[in-house]
Amino acid sequence: MDFEFSDEEKIFQENLREYFSKSLRPRLREIDEKGIPKDFILDASKIGLWSLTFSEDVGGQHASFTLASIAAEEIARADFTMATAVFFLLENSWGYVLDKYGSEELRKEVLPKVASGENFLGIASTEPSGGSDVANLKTSAKKEEGKYVINGEKAYISGVMEAKEMGGGHLTLVRTGGKGHKGISMIYVPINSEGITVSRIENMGRMGISTGIIKYDNVRIDEKFLVGEENKGFYYAMDGFNHARVLVASACIGSAEAILEEGLKYIKEREAFGVKLKDLQSIAFEAAELYTKLEMARLLVYKSAWMLDHEEKFKDEIPKFSAMAKLIAPQTAFDVIKSVMIWFGAYGYTKDALIESGMRGLMSYLVGAEGALNIMKLIISREILK
Ligand SMILES: Cc1cc2nc3c(=O)[nH]c(=O)nc-3n(C[C@H](O)[C@H](O)[C@H](O)COP(=O)(O)OP(=O)(O)OC[C@H]3O[C@@H](n4cnc5c(N)ncnc54)[C@H](O)[C@@H]3O)c2cc1C
Repeated sequence: MDFEFSDEEKIFQENLREYFSKSLRPRLREIDEKGIPKDFILDASKIGLWSLTFSEDVGGQHASFTLASIAAEEIARADFTMATAVFFLLENSWGYVLDKYGSEELRKEVLPKVASGENFLGIASTEPSGGSDVANLKTSAKKEEGKYVINGEKAYISGVMEAKEMGGGHLTLVRTGGKGHKGISMIYVPINSEGITVSRIENMGRMGISTGIIKYDNVRIDEKFLVGEENKGFYYAMDGFNHARVLVASACIGSAEAILEEGLKYIKEREAFGVKLKDLQSIAFEAAELYTKLEMARLLVYKSAWMLDHEEKFKDEIPKFSAMAKLIAPQTAFDVIKSVMIWFGAYGYTKDALIESGMRGLMSYLVGAEGALNIMKLIISREILK
């Protein structure tokens, strides 16, 4: 057993920390107010950030999910609003799915432009009637003369405006067969296709990346955009969620680490009743507990990433582990952020302290993004009780 990163992983982590401390952290408020800067998206593509997990022939790095987790953690340490981390994990997990299951033609048409930061790629699964029960989705795709004709609506979809502005689209789950999970296909739908209307939903957090509604009114998509085989889309999506959840969890750990570091610095300096806050045992013990919980969550997250890198060996355990990582990391991060905000006193509640942007961003992972917490519990309990 070896709990250390390899030399390659350590250098990668150091380089990213240095890069993001200059390119992201000073722009955190700008990201929260105006969006992820386009120049950052293009610049980061030069280090292969958006395509770490893709194959080399489509512009990727063919990197491990351990490296992708390191990147997610480092991004969120610098931009703890979560916006850039969301952009990163969408490209790297759903790009991975398209790379793995898509045809040669589709991979080569879509992925190089995602890798270069020219186009956006996302996932469109959730519908207004619900997101947890994926197997019952309603958006339909009927085949007519070599095209899929799509009708329906997707809701709370990340990156709708980025896809419109940058170009790109979403891996869209649609019903092509009968009821249940065996009648679902995954189709890449370019967002600028005729018949699509998009609107933005105003969220409380991670303002740097949009969330919105996509309506499909007789949208005709060439059959070459089908990912893999018809009626297998549910399985591809579950594979994608397993990967995305580990990257989400890594990002939550990163944001909490950055905020805890700020908190520890603050309690070493701030005085009350003539002593430093760190010398008040109630605060010091709370810090010790949060630090320990964060380390526990981090170990679980990296174990899950390592399992993804040994997919064949751990294929039966991966859904449970990625659900455990997604269950625990956002909750631990929330506990950390809440405590640090309270240590900061009134200052913690201000926009100047920046902590509030982390809390708002993190909440998306507590309410549901990449799967609600109860759904993580459902996956874990099914596995351990079967
Ligand atoms: C900021 C943000 C971005 C998002 N981006 C995307 C995206 O890019 N693409 C996409 O497809 N979706 C996206 N989503 C949607 C997300 O996937 C859904 O929120 C999630 O799947 C839950 O679905 P829902 O919100 O409809 O809640 P519901 O499914 O209606 O669930 C409501 C509540 O009931 C609970 N619940 C449901 N079923 C059970 C059960 N069997 N047992 C116990 N409790 C249960 C849930 O835990 C939840 O608390 C995003 C969400 C957010 C907040």
